[in-house]
Amino acid sequence: MILFNKAAEVSAYIERQKEAGKKIGFVPTMGALHKGHLSLIEASNLQNDLTVCSIFVNPTQFNDPGDFRQYPVTIEQDIRFLINSDTDILFLPGVEEIYPNGTTQLPEYDLGYLAKILEGKFRPGHFQGVCQVMSRLLNIISPHHLFMGQKDYQQCMVVKQLIKIEHLNIIFHTCPTLREPEGLAMSSRNLRLNEEERQKATAIFRVLQYLKANLRPGCLHEFKTEGIRMLEKNALKPDYLEIADASTLEIADQWDGSKKLVALVAAFMREVRLIDNMIISE
Ligand code: AMP
Repeated sequence: MILFNKAAEVSAYIERQKEAGKKIGFVPTMGALHKGHLSLIEASNLQNDLTVCSIFVNPTQFNDPGDFRQYPVTIEQDIRFLINSDTDILFLPGVEEIYPNGTTQLPEYDLGYLAKILEGKFRPGHFQGVCQVMSRLLNIISPHHLFMGQKDYQQCMVVKQLIKIEHLNIIFHTCPTLREPEGLAMSSRNLRLNEEERQKATAIFRVLQYLKANLRPGCLHEFKTEGIRMLEKNALKPDYLEIADASTLEIADQWDGSKKLVALVAAFMREVRLIDNMIISE
């Protein structure tokens, strides 16, 4: 694996590889890597000649400074994981490489409805930050294929929109969510939970399964209320539990029995914010 810290150097290297006919896959991350991240690397390795992973904890996407400060950093272990999973290139920039002119005058993106609901509503400015960093990273790496996780469902939709807005020639791949044996979605933030909290947090998965197993045409209101009750019973404080159209994220209050629906949850376990989602209609 080759490690680059400088944007200009990784760009030049990748450009040469592309000229030599190599297909480039890209997996952007914020580090504290787990098997979920590595599954994206695996997916990229299968479809590309070279896989690039970036590790950058992007300050502009954190609406909560405490969350940013406490974001786990395990860089030595990350490097070992990446070498073991046959990553070709690690891009590990400092903040000045990503934002050479500072963070105060970055572009704003028109994300419309997507930026106003769910994560956009509860984390103001979050998706602007995601677009700012992704725009820069996609410009530096210029991959053929981009791999991101369904775990961040709304983020996948936002980045697909960014690709359209910027007319980028990149194929987007949404990869399935990897879970712990009891169902908790793998997440770097799980490192901040103790054993009992992790156990209780599996209620998020159980709620999603409950919604999937019991979905019937008609009003969805009581159904959501029961899901929230199940979360609260397990010491989780939900920001939201919503059911939405899987392709537009328009919130669904009714189900006609045919529309593809996704259930999405964001909930705090103590001060650790966890998100998860599941397609609940076939
Ligand atoms: P993060 O480091 O949390 O920004 O995540 C980097 C990428 O890994 C994003 O595309 C996430 O959606 C994806 N990811 C995070 N957790 C998982 C998971 N449990 N399974 C699959 N992909 C994941």
